[in-house]
Amino acid sequence: MFLKNYSQILIIGAGPAGATASMFLTKQKIYHTLIDKAVFPRDKICGDALSGKVFSVLKKLENGIQNKIYSDENYLGSFGVKFFAPSGLSVDVPFANNIESLSVAPGFIATRKYFDNFLLENSAGEYANVIQGCEAKQITKQPDGKYKISCIGNGLTIEFVPEIVLAADGDRSIFAKQFGGKMVEENHYCAGLRVYYKNVSGFNSNNFIELHFIKKVLPGYFWVFPMSNGKANVGIGLLKKYASKNKINLRKELEDIIQNHPEISKRFSAAEPLETPKGWGLPLGSKRRKISGERFMLLGDAGSLIDPFTGEGIANAMICGMHAANVIELALEKKDYSSDLFYEYDKRVYNRLGKEFSISTTLQKLSRFPWLFNFVVKKAIKNETFRETLTAMFNDLDLRSSFKDPKFYWRIFKN
Ligand SMILES: Cc1cc2nc3c(=O)[nH]c(=O)nc-3n(C[C@H](O)[C@H](O)[C@H](O)COP(=O)(O)OP(=O)(O)OC[C@H]3O[C@@H](n4cnc5c(N)ncnc54)[C@H](O)[C@@H]3O)c2cc1C
Repeated sequence: MFLKNYSQILIIGAGPAGATASMFLTKQKIYHTLIDKAVFPRDKICGDALSGKVFSVLKKLENGIQNKIYSDENYLGSFGVKFFAPSGLSVDVPFANNIESLSVAPGFIATRKYFDNFLLENSAGEYANVIQGCEAKQITKQPDGKYKISCIGNGLTIEFVPEIVLAADGDRSIFAKQFGGKMVEENHYCAGLRVYYKNVSGFNSNNFIELHFIKKVLPGYFWVFPMSNGKANVGIGLLKKYASKNKINLRKELEDIIQNHPEISKRFSAAEPLETPKGWGLPLGSKRRKISGERFMLLGDAGSLIDPFTGEGIANAMICGMHAANVIELALEKKDYSSDLFYEYDKRVYNRLGKEFSISTTLQKLSRFPWLFNFVVKKAIKNETFRETLTAMFNDLDLRSSFKDPKFYWRIFKN
């Protein structure tokens, strides 16, 4: 039984990481405060694609939450990914080998304005003191080891001195910069742009999301994701190191692809942008970092935990939220807020995501080579068993790790 004390735990940021931590704390009947500088529903620049990993976290809360998503028309179910090699050839990789027999889609696309608000609504309740429009502005560490967080909300200053801080305030986290050593590392950081469009044509009938690996923006990609209301989420992302080294202007590349790419431009002939391209960074998990310390844990983008190949970060942020809440239960029970105790969080997060990050880092490096990409896609088009293996790789990490083994490519070469 935990004390009815909302101020013992402060979560800064109510995106997928913070809201999920809040939902799990509520499940454990642990009182806490969740603040966000924005008032929801709010936009977040993103590709808006949610994978099955999101559902694996939600399922642990209550089945009802997941069912709400399945029955909501704001979510567009997606059954797979279409990979376009630099040659222009494409291969469809369904999320499961039997998609015809599935009753619900394994993945979804939903605007973050909608999805994040949905999570926040589910995190509100007896155990959560949710304060929107409240920005953490200044943080100091006190002699007793606690953090004093001064926030501004509605023109008022509010001060928190919690026992434990969860920094879930995204890529520009002030807590992670000040106390978690967070900085932009060009080798482990991607620049991304998003534009919503309407009337893009030519989508797959099972709403496959599309990743186009175009020579000029390797090892990044251009994406087109179908959405529920006839709109599309369109964007481009590239490792900062390559954007800087090759002086690539992503806005120009995005425009050039949409207007001049021989195949893509045809699909945009009747399309209209609904906004100007909007940019935001993707801090990648291609380097293992320490994501906790005495009295704090860094969640989601604040801990730089985005998949280095796919750019998926929502589910990873939610996985962090779940583990952080579980480790808090441990800390409160033991009344131990030391960095040793919170290192348990690092272990749990990297146990779950470390292998994926390692494979994705290899894939990201290999995707610099257009010939290799062309070769793999060409083989996949010709060979059904190989396509089925690619699908199985979504769910089987051991199989996916074959991408790191040169023998795998030799076997493809030899059929
Ligand atoms: C262009 C682009 C495309 C992407 N596409 C995808 C995709 O298709 N699928 C996918 O899974 N991932 C994608 N990602 C990654 C994904 O957006 C992030 O990994 C995810 O949003 C991380 O969630 P989070 O909760 O850690 O942070 P955020 O979602 O950024 O939430 C942080 C919250 O903290 C609040 N906040 C910030 N500072 C303060 C403060 N000082 N005080 C109080 N509150 C504060 C913010 O208002 C915000 O609500 C993409 C990212 C980009 C940039």
